[in-house]
Amino acid sequence: MTNLFDLTGKVAIVTGANTGIGQGIALALAQAGASIAAVGRSAATETVEKARVLGVKAEIISADLSTIEPVGRIVDETVEKLGGLDILVNNAGIIRRNDSVDFSEEDWDAVIDTNLKSTFFLCQAAGRHMIAQGYGKIINIASMLSFQGGIRVPSYTASKSGVAGLTKLLACEWAAKGINVNAIAPGYIATNNTTALQADETRNRQIVERIPAGRWGEPGDLGGAAVFLASSASDYVQGHVLAVDGGWLAR
Ligand code: NAP
Repeated sequence: MTNLFDLTGKVAIVTGANTGIGQGIALALAQAGASIAAVGRSAATETVEKARVLGVKAEIISADLSTIEPVGRIVDETVEKLGGLDILVNNAGIIRRNDSVDFSEEDWDAVIDTNLKSTFFLCQAAGRHMIAQGYGKIINIASMLSFQGGIRVPSYTASKSGVAGLTKLLACEWAAKGINVNAIAPGYIATNNTTALQADETRNRQIVERIPAGRWGEPGDLGGAAVFLASSASDYVQGHVLAVDGGWLAR
C-alpha cells in the first residue's frame, strides 16, 4: 500500500529553519523523506546536519527575509542545489510588543515586511515554479492571532491575520493548478519567540492553565501537521488554517 505521508524524492524549502518551529518542521519533513533547503539569516548548520543523519539531502541557503530581495534567488538556489522544489514552508517571522498608542512605524513595518510581505512574494516565486510543474504544497505559519486579537502586538496580529487571508486567496487561485496552499496556526510553543512569556511566572501560569493539554507545545509537535499538509494525504485540503494548539482555541 502506498504511504500517503511519504515525501521521498520531494524537495522542501523551510524558512527560519535554524531554530524553533522551523527546525522542528524541517526535521519532520526530512524524516518523511524530503530534501531540505534550510533558508535563513542565521546558518541552519544544526538542522542541516540532523537532516543529513536522517538520510536526506540538505543545504543551507542564506537569506534575510526582512526584504523581498532574496525570494527569486531562494527558489533558484533550491532548484540548482537540490534538483527541484515541491514544498514551501513560510515559517520565518518576528514579533514586536508595545501598547498600540505608542507603537512605532518601524515596529509596524518590520513585522509586516517579514511576516506578510516576504511570505507573499516567496509564495509567488515558488508558485510560479509549482504552477509550471503542475504540483506543489505551500504551508504558511499563521498563529492564534490569525483568529484572536491579542494585546500589544498590533503589527503581529495584522500580519498573521493577513497570512490566514492570503492562504485562502492563494488556495482559490492555485487549487486547480495542482497546488495546495494551507497554513498551520501554532498555539503556545516553547521557542526563542516566547522566552519572555515563559519567564514571566504570572503569564506563564495563566497560559498553561488555559491550554486544555496543560503544557506548552514543543517545536516537534508541529511535525505531524506539516507532513500531512506537505504530502498527498492532504491533496483535497485547500485554504485551511490548521490549529496545533493543545486545544487553546477550543476553550
Ligand atoms: P524563533 O525561534 O524566534 O524563530 C523565528 C525564525 O525566523 C528564526 O529562524 C529566525 O532567524 C527567522 N527569521 C526572523 N527574521 C528573519 C529574517 N529577516 N530573515 C530570515 N529569517 C528570519 O520563533 P518560532 O516560535 O520558532 O517562530 C517561527 C514562526 O512561528 C514565526 O512565524 C512565528 O510568528 C510563528 N509562531 C510561533 C508561535 C510560538 O508560540 N512560538 C506561535 C504562533 C506562531 P534568526 O534565528 O536568525 O533570528
